[in-house]
Amino acid sequence: MAKPFASSADLADKKRSFEELADGVWALTAEGDPNVGAIEGEDFLVCFEAMATPVAARGWLSMLREHTDKPVRYLVLSHYHAVRVLGASAFGADVIVAHEKTRELIAERGEQDWASEYGRMPRLFEEPASIPGLTWPTLTFGDRVTIDLGGGRGMLELHHCGRGHTEGDLVAWLPERRVMFAGDLVESRAALYTGDAFHRDWAGGTLDRVAAFGAETLVGGRGEVARGRAAVDAAIAQTRDFLRVMMRETGAVHESGGTLKEAFRRTHRALEPRYGSWPIFEHCLPFNVSRLWDELNGVERPRIWTAERDREVWDQLQD
Ligand SMILES: [Zn+2]
Repeated sequence: MAKPFASSADLADKKRSFEELADGVWALTAEGDPNVGAIEGEDFLVCFEAMATPVAARGWLSMLREHTDKPVRYLVLSHYHAVRVLGASAFGADVIVAHEKTRELIAERGEQDWASEYGRMPRLFEEPASIPGLTWPTLTFGDRVTIDLGGGRGMLELHHCGRGHTEGDLVAWLPERRVMFAGDLVESRAALYTGDAFHRDWAGGTLDRVAAFGAETLVGGRGEVARGRAAVDAAIAQTRDFLRVMMRETGAVHESGGTLKEAFRRTHRALEPRYGSWPIFEHCLPFNVSRLWDELNGVERPRIWTAERDREVWDQLQD
């Protein structure tokens, strides 16, 4: 039987875990669904990631409202992917912060990405008609930006660590509490999506820079919270290993003049024993190998995924 397209058959609700990571720092994880977070300032909140729709985001906000009624001043978006940004209107944030490349990517491919992600992961798009349109960051930066949390709560730093999961990822870092929200640059026991990635940069200097912060608590893009240095290091190492296995296996087929389909099969075989049971593994891998193949062919920037191209690649590689 043919595998169902992407995550289109993943319709069961996930168990959600709301956790306080430090005083006034919260995360919501959900068995491999996209993670979100919030950080309390003196008289405001910073929210991290916006979910796929305003209705989905309101579910998260209602959990948060059991702990604080401070208004959301900043909504921070780790990157442009639809399931992370299209719920933004629910937050009523004064400022929407993202990397400058994220804003450019939304302008360039936000519409197509919305249609693509909706087709791949329909369950995450709770009441899709509630989305008012694309989300536009109102504050962008290139290297880093710092938000003073006030009231002796320290600083929140937003850093760009180089190209990785996309061209414009950021991480949010609380230096006093050594807590990091890493977006999709790090996954914790969840498969990687690399369809818009720069594999070599990500597996090299970008993850080196993420690791150099020395986080003691890390919230990745999906999967459970990594608590303690050993768990943080393990999540970063797993992310790097996933990328390296992909580069080695797909690279070997490319080098020997093989086909994309052969590369997909070989990479799947190599990753499956360790990662096959992790969330979104089967969903992501055809898109991942397709992008890596392009990268090996010298295609500098990821091609735009459309709902149509998604199906073409899926049908070409899955059988
Ligand atoms: Zn993403």
